[in-house]
Amino acid sequence: MLKIHPIPAFKDNYIWILHDENYAAVIDPGTAQSVIDYLNCKKLQLISILITHHHNDHTGGIIELLNKFNVPVYGPHNESIPTLTHHVKENDEIKLKELSLTLKVLETPGHTTDHIAYYGANKTKMLFCGDTLFACGCGRLFEGSAQQMYHSLQKLTNLPDETGVYCTHEYTLENIRFARTVEPGNLTLLEFETTAKELRKQNIPTLPTTIRQEKATNPFLRCDQPEVIQSACTHLGQDFCEPSRIFSTLREWKNHF
Ligand code: ZN
Ligand code: FE
Repeated sequence: MLKIHPIPAFKDNYIWILHDENYAAVIDPGTAQSVIDYLNCKKLQLISILITHHHNDHTGGIIELLNKFNVPVYGPHNESIPTLTHHVKENDEIKLKELSLTLKVLETPGHTTDHIAYYGANKTKMLFCGDTLFACGCGRLFEGSAQQMYHSLQKLTNLPDETGVYCTHEYTLENIRFARTVEPGNLTLLEFETTAKELRKQNIPTLPTTIRQEKATNPFLRCDQPEVIQSACTHLGQDFCEPSRIFSTLREWKNHF
């Protein structure tokens, strides 16, 4: 049985570890010790490290893990992460034989220029999207443009509705606060807020989310919805704004929210 387990790290990161009874692959290990502890506790052998982008909170644990395990490290084609052994790009497939799992690479520039996500279309569909898509939010634009990020998010929304979305930060409540301001009439969002608050009170992750839920609640994926358009225009102080400007307006607005 394949398990996908979040290892909390730093203030609000999750390091996702995919494993069965024997083998494990880890995504974005920003730190090593908690990963090693988990592997030891469950008696797992690490077989692979997968990286979505170069930021330290996603890569900081690689060296220490490599000191203990001689495993391949997959990551984006052009980003300089010296510890990568395999540079991957759009549509490349990573076969995790021991876990009977294939992950496909999706290029999702925006947060960084060469950010990638990993999609598994096995029986249970899963997406490891790094800092591109968050529950009710999206990553900041550190290197890419709003247009790039918009297209990356569109690409992710084309995945099957039931896909589990494993984001790397617990930003959900903060994102919902913004989303509610943008779209106060969204009842699904209101329901999600209640659920998410309850989970956080018990210190349970609000993740994974799903593509279906994100399409229903995430303002950054809802730039064609009348209430979202209206809010963005009002924020800009205009009666009308170009559809292409809605996303960048929301992103800009959220930066200062
Ligand atoms: Zn990042
Ligand atoms: Fe991050």
